[in-house]
Amino acid sequence: MAVPISTAAGLDAAAIRADFPVLAEQVHGRPLVYLDNAATSQKPRAVIDALQTYYETYNANIHRGLHALSERATAEYEDARARVARFINAAHSHEVIFTRGTTEAINLVARGWGDEHVGEGDEILLTEMEHHSNLVPWQMLAQRRGASLRYIPMDAEGRIDLEAYARMFGPQTRLVTVTQMSNVLGTITPAAEIVQIAHVHGVPVLLDAAQSIPHVPVNVQELGADFVAFSGHKMLGPTGIGVLYGRESFLDAMEPLFGGGSMIRVVQLHQSSWTELPYKLEGGTPNIAGAIGLGAAVDYLQAVGMPNVTAHELELTEYALALLSDVDGVRVFGPPDATDRGGVISFYVGDVHPHDVGTLLDAEGIAVRAGHHCAQPLMRKLGVAATARASLYLYNTAAEVDCLAAGVARAMAFFA
Ligand code: PLP
Repeated sequence: MAVPISTAAGLDAAAIRADFPVLAEQVHGRPLVYLDNAATSQKPRAVIDALQTYYETYNANIHRGLHALSERATAEYEDARARVARFINAAHSHEVIFTRGTTEAINLVARGWGDEHVGEGDEILLTEMEHHSNLVPWQMLAQRRGASLRYIPMDAEGRIDLEAYARMFGPQTRLVTVTQMSNVLGTITPAAEIVQIAHVHGVPVLLDAAQSIPHVPVNVQELGADFVAFSGHKMLGPTGIGVLYGRESFLDAMEPLFGGGSMIRVVQLHQSSWTELPYKLEGGTPNIAGAIGLGAAVDYLQAVGMPNVTAHELELTEYALALLSDVDGVRVFGPPDATDRGGVISFYVGDVHPHDVGTLLDAEGIAVRAGHHCAQPLMRKLGVAATARASLYLYNTAAEVDCLAAGVARAMAFFA
């Protein structure tokens, strides 16, 4: 694997860009400026090569074969699990369950843990800025079990009122489930404090880390979270692979969501028993190539150094916030101080519909997202139907932020 260049002074974005083939593409005759990283990230050559090597040289099903290819595929798949476990500092690699992504990981907890532990009259605490993936599964659970959702007070910039949160706990509080970084506002939530307060009341916490783990160092043991969900495709890995981290005792107390091959110990005609973790929660043939690709993505991020990734994005976010707020008529959402947030920047340009902003920017080769970002309740709280959203990653540059700001200024002038 080519080792990406990073120095004590930070990372070398130009050298990193050379590792990402798609970044050399032209869009509508212009160099691609890819600022849709919160939706999905681009993939370095090392990840693409890992997928290709698997399919070209050792493609086989895992865990059941006695032949050489199957043994190698099994070893690489389990090695990827171990690397992901080290990346987030899980105590054991069997605390890493491979899923299709964050959505599946959260649904696995809502079904496998929630159906067992949440009942009539119980309460689940969450925020109004959750992605639909960390909202709809809990609505479904609440409807199945006669429980209810309660929303932790927060301001329009996504800052959680910790004192009010601490007062919400009662004998029927069963779970706290919050995002670690908002995919709309960029707000980084005080995850460690949220966990600490919940644990005083003996209540477990799930962190939706889909937007945080790709961008900031996350140490699950230090945070103390009981469940952490994230997606490979947002952290340089392939689509269709993600992770549910769970503390062993919690995963042990879960029922599998998928019955089938690989997750059983003994199958009889009328009943079966389950095998040990992590396989109990990974029924069926998993996304073997995806897991191996995610392992390569984790290696890449570690070679760059997660603190370098965070520092680079902080610098770019500060710059982008300054440039965008200088454009007359542009309203930027989320915390104004870049140190309270990640590089997800939602904005509104005068009275221009965000879709029109997105279309104009696309004509200049600039990829941003426009819409409700799977956060309709938050859109209502902000009083808008949609926003435009630019989101940064390790390969973005200050020159690309200049392109964005110039494009936004042109959109403003075009519709004035
Ligand atoms: N949670 C957050 C905060 C997200 O930003 C996303 C994706 O945008 C998800 C959950 C869902 O991730 P996936 O679609 O990969 O399951």
